[in-house]
Amino acid sequence: MKLIKLKEPHMTNEELKVEIESRSKNCNTCSVKLTPDNWYPSFVAKCHYSCTTCYDKRRIKNMVESNTASPFIVAKYIGGKALEEYNSVKSGHVYAISNPAWKGWLKIGMAVDAKERCRHFQTGSPMRDYKVEYFKYFIDRREAERMAHDSLKLDNIERQGEWFKIKLKEAKALILKLQDEQYEAA
Ligand SMILES: [Zn+2]
Repeated sequence: MKLIKLKEPHMTNEELKVEIESRSKNCNTCSVKLTPDNWYPSFVAKCHYSCTTCYDKRRIKNMVESNTASPFIVAKYIGGKALEEYNSVKSGHVYAISNPAWKGWLKIGMAVDAKERCRHFQTGSPMRDYKVEYFKYFIDRREAERMAHDSLKLDNIERQGEWFKIKLKEAKALILKLQDEQYEAA
């Protein structure tokens, strides 16, 4: 497998953006535009134009059929009520996840369980190179994530979907300072 190094040391951020843009194609199955948010890094390198959703659909079916699926995966496969119930769990983690292919960027998101979410990302990454850098538990994970994204927007942090150009130290500080209590009274 030929790996393409995304960011050369001499590259400016503007050049990097152009580079990402030039490699961004559309999903062969559903035609959605491929971005760091919906395109597995290993697929970028292999020029495999499939979005995470389309790829996961096939992958999840295989996992369920071979009995290797976790509760979340099974819920996702069954869909409808099962997934609805899994996703209705209000509490959970706000996390920062990294991948070496998107160096300098972090995915700031929320999940019932950050490590389960990360395992899920790995399904499309033979390199197994996603890493949960940090996570914190919240009573209301959606609200906590919304506050995190709002705060990143206020700070004018460059963004592509749920990926932000932010140092881990800053992301940790941001997530750490979020408090459930801030909105519980509201
Ligand atoms: Zn697709």
